[in-house]
Amino acid sequence: MLLKSALGLASPEGRNGRLSILIFHRVLTEPDLLLPEEPDVARFDLLMRWVAEWFNVLPLNEAIAALCAGALPPRAAAITFDDGYANGYHHALPVLQRYGLSATFFVATAFLDGGLMWNDMLIEAVRLASTSLCLETDIEGIGTVRIGSPDEKRCLLARLLPTVGMLPLTVRDEIVAKFVAASKILLPQDVMLSSGQLRALRAAGMLIGAHTMNHPCLLACSNDEAEHEIMASRAKLESILDEPVDLFAYPYGKPGKDYDTRHIDLVKKLGFKAALSTCWGSNSVESDLYQLSRFTPWDRKRWRFGLRMLGNFYHDSEELAS
Ligand SMILES: [Zn+2]
Repeated sequence: MLLKSALGLASPEGRNGRLSILIFHRVLTEPDLLLPEEPDVARFDLLMRWVAEWFNVLPLNEAIAALCAGALPPRAAAITFDDGYANGYHHALPVLQRYGLSATFFVATAFLDGGLMWNDMLIEAVRLASTSLCLETDIEGIGTVRIGSPDEKRCLLARLLPTVGMLPLTVRDEIVAKFVAASKILLPQDVMLSSGQLRALRAAGMLIGAHTMNHPCLLACSNDEAEHEIMASRAKLESILDEPVDLFAYPYGKPGKDYDTRHIDLVKKLGFKAALSTCWGSNSVESDLYQLSRFTPWDRKRWRFGLRMLGNFYHDSEELAS
């Protein structure tokens, strides 16, 4: 009760209102040592129970309209999922429906219908590779890779993923292909959403937004490549859903590191209504609609979760691109 009052003071209704946008990626069947930050379905259920109790969750488009009009309800929030994992349909949707919550799914369209994102290819290659595998890489700072115990696999991925993700698209995909070939595994084909599941999410009242095709670091793309990635992903979603798509989330989402003002201008030029970063913080009537902040709570205890959501109102967003 005390926490709910404190959240209401930090996030009142009307012109001084603040919009908290939560970001998730996967909702796992069970905890996964190689994905320690991702909630399993039981934990996600708990988080959503607290969110439903403490926040007024709006569909993102309505939340943005209310934010602009200075008409947010107290403790306003929206929920988002990035990348387009099938477990968003299998695990997240039933929980969201249980608590009457709406969410927006930002989808990297090249991986729909049987594809796999580059990071998941690496994760699965490392997960399933035999523990005696040794691989020469020419990645600066990584060098020779030895696949060892499960804990060593987790440490290796913690080093590999941030480095490989920042490389230009073709270099990134070449390195990933080398890992997959060396580990001699068959990649799973049901990790990402199918077109049918995407339509079913929309039919269940969820919103869909664009997130590029191949999930590149936009700063590592040429201007033409970046424009094509953004436009083609929207066109693909619009053809599946047969309706306009006007929300966008920058891949990785850190200003100056993953996108800059060129990409903000591009997203505006292409007619998107808003775009989301992964900068922490909440959003006010003065926030940049093309760099809305998002936040992931990761707590297992109710009071810690409440305090962290409260703390997010006082996180300043000095790092935005301008
Ligand atoms: Zn993403």
